[in-house]
Amino acid sequence: MADPLHEQDRAADALDLVAKAARGYLDALPTLPVHDKSGDDLLDQLDGALPDEGCGTLDAVNELLTIGTRAATHSSGPRFFHFVVGGSTPAAQAADWVTSLLDQVAGLWVASPFATRAETVVLRWLKDLFGLPASYGGVLTPSATFANLTGLACARYWWARQHGVDVTVDGLAGLPRMPVLSSGYVHPSSRKALQILGCGRDTVQVIARDDAGRVDLAAMDRALAAIDGPAVLIGNAGDVNTGDFDPIAELADLAERHGAWLHVDGAFGLFAAVSPRTAHLVAGVDRADSVAADGHKWLNVPYESGFAFVRDPEMLGRAFGGWNARYLEAEGDVDINYNSLGPESSRRARALPIWATLRAYGRQGCRAMVERHLDLAQRLGRLVDEAPDLELLAPVQLCVVCFRYRPPGVPEADLDALNERLGAALLADGRVFAGTTVYRGVTALRPAIVNWRTTEADIDLLVSVVREVASDTLGA
Ligand SMILES: *Cc1c(COP(=O)(O)O)cnc(C)c1O
Repeated sequence: MADPLHEQDRAADALDLVAKAARGYLDALPTLPVHDKSGDDLLDQLDGALPDEGCGTLDAVNELLTIGTRAATHSSGPRFFHFVVGGSTPAAQAADWVTSLLDQVAGLWVASPFATRAETVVLRWLKDLFGLPASYGGVLTPSATFANLTGLACARYWWARQHGVDVTVDGLAGLPRMPVLSSGYVHPSSRKALQILGCGRDTVQVIARDDAGRVDLAAMDRALAAIDGPAVLIGNAGDVNTGDFDPIAELADLAERHGAWLHVDGAFGLFAAVSPRTAHLVAGVDRADSVAADGHKWLNVPYESGFAFVRDPEMLGRAFGGWNARYLEAEGDVDINYNSLGPESSRRARALPIWATLRAYGRQGCRAMVERHLDLAQRLGRLVDEAPDLELLAPVQLCVVCFRYRPPGVPEADLDALNERLGAALLADGRVFAGTTVYRGVTALRPAIVNWRTTEADIDLLVSVVREVASDTLGA
């Protein structure tokens, strides 16, 4: 019988199996297709009834490696451009294994002073990296969705308090709708956060001056003036379709003038702060009341990794402190309990991969990676511009390039369907991964370049595969 107690001496052997497989997998990763459909046949091997007798540690891990290394989408490789998806730097990946090895209870100081201190340190380093005031409170989250949830939960606490209600204790009953305003760039995850918070995902009043979603500041000013009482403003630092930004400093001015809470969703765009070439895009973010971002995108640490910062550190404990918990936890405290400062209770030590990648590569390494991606995005924009059958749909500002296939002679009315077929064909082809979106009412590709492994050759291949698959699609 395979009782784990009888397999204690297999634990390190099992890790050796993974390390051995890792060498071959990582060596092959730059050249593997992003998705190899033949691997899908192996998925049945995951299936079947719950085993009565287990097969034992080494066989189970071997099986998983055999299936996984072939059937997994190689999204941590250099050519996964669909959505904004990062990879894992060597240091972050190894540190993620360390996180599993040590398996810390990272929400309670008493359970792990080590994980607690690591979290405090990486939050400080991240604020420094992005030019956010050291006085901001912060917490690590599983994702930017949870980071948006964290910032907006603090906003909701702040807003309800001005109506004389402690929403943490008494909930929303009896309160009016919380006014939330944003540009058309507002990400679905901010809406999801509002939906979880009981504010409703459709509560967002979108104030845009064009069909791209760019904010109308004058109309925003008027809308805020018309609201009786406090409001919440969501600024979007990095739109997923084009990498465009809301003018954060102007939104901060409006928030100040009208006494509104400014939450900035900088899931990937906050990294613009890392390079002097793009820092102007996030100017003013250090005036936001809350800021959300992702580690598993442009920082290139493994899933799941996000972080939230809040100007008034006390808000985190007010919004998330559990029953009977002290709510005045602050990052300066040695014995801080991070489970009182965010949506999770038990949580893994997700500070460790962040610590390792920042320790390994530092500010300059992070900047070099970001600037390489800026260059690659410009290169892609140029190649698209030069190709007679491709059309750039928005200026390239950051790491996202929005374009479509537009061969001469195809009527405008047929282009959306053609690009939809192209997107599906690209995903089926699997050499490069880039799917479609709808931008200004047209179907478009919007590859995002945020993986540390991506090089010029990958960008050139993206363009040549897109054109090749596109002409096959057109011919079909
Ligand atoms: C990806 C993204 C999110 C959500 O991040 P998750 O980590 O997937 O939860 C939020 N906002 C923006 C702008 C994003 O790009």
